[in-house]
Amino acid sequence: MSEQPCDIGDADGVAMAFLEKGTKVTPLPFRQPALGDKQIRIRVTHAGLCMSDLLTSTGQWGEPYLPLVPGHEIVGIVEKVGEKVSHLHEGDKVGFGVYRDCCDMCSECRTGHENMCAGKSYTYDPYSYGGYATSFQSRGDFFFKLDDSFPGYAAPLFCAGTTVYNPLLQYAKPSMKVGIVGIGGLGHVAIKFANKFGCEVTAISTTPGKEQEAKSMGAHHFINSKDPEALKKHANSLDMILDTCTAVNLEQDFSLVRPRGHVALVGAPNVEHDCKLNITQILMRQQELHGSEVGPRIVIENMLEFVKIHNIIPDVDIYPFADTQSAVNSLFSGSPKWPRYRNVIETKDFFNTFTPRSN
Ligand SMILES: [Zn+2]
Ligand SMILES: [Zn+2]
Repeated sequence: MSEQPCDIGDADGVAMAFLEKGTKVTPLPFRQPALGDKQIRIRVTHAGLCMSDLLTSTGQWGEPYLPLVPGHEIVGIVEKVGEKVSHLHEGDKVGFGVYRDCCDMCSECRTGHENMCAGKSYTYDPYSYGGYATSFQSRGDFFFKLDDSFPGYAAPLFCAGTTVYNPLLQYAKPSMKVGIVGIGGLGHVAIKFANKFGCEVTAISTTPGKEQEAKSMGAHHFINSKDPEALKKHANSLDMILDTCTAVNLEQDFSLVRPRGHVALVGAPNVEHDCKLNITQILMRQQELHGSEVGPRIVIENMLEFVKIHNIIPDVDIYPFADTQSAVNSLFSGSPKWPRYRNVIETKDFFNTFTPRSN
């Protein structure tokens, strides 16, 4: 059973839904299904916008199911807990990420890699609404307890943050020379993390105008990847690259990395994109290529401790929930401005005009 659209007077929540393929969102009142005994329902306070939301809505990852309510960077306050939930209580501040379910039985699940479970479910899909909504309900043990002092607008940690933290946790060591390719929603958090991991951080971007911002986030060096001389000068200089771009250029990445170095990929390219993988180059230099998809719950718990110790929060632009369309336009087309560096919607003011049925 899943969410059902309804009249506003009868609604548990309002979603900002894609009712057709594209980038237009429309308010959609809905009823939540009955709360399962292992489920939690929250009032969403903040949700981050991820590029994958719009790759889904515009059909770039296949024909979208409709209505589509994306959002997998969610922070909110617990409203209801099922009878068998004991680790969270009404009023707790919580976060929620990219996965909402897994099989619990396979070897990946039983060894703490449930993001690799063949039976996992993503937070939003044809059966469930995501975080572009005032109300969200899901399996209780996929929620993360947050301190009351955790800023809700740091919601992008639950996808962007986790996605870059996971490969850094696996491969980055203190004093390693780490390059971060792409200074956007993912890359800017990666710079902050890699700096606090004790790495010597090089930001690599096609936008020279981001150099000062990248350095203020913790980058020690900057390479303009449109400058062939700069690329040549830094060849073989890095121990590891974390590439956050969807327009991945592996030939460039592996030329910047030293022999026996690593390249970790977290951006899913368009299927038609030529990644320029030069197998001979990699083979003769004994280099390694790693893929990574977001991260399991144990890594998110670890990241939440890390950001608390080092006071790391993403740089965000906050939009009122009622103006989700502007946040979408900004992310999709830079109109009237590109995100610096993640767009987050905030529901607070929306409750001045909307009273949920269950209250
Ligand atoms: Zn995401
Ligand atoms: Zn499993």
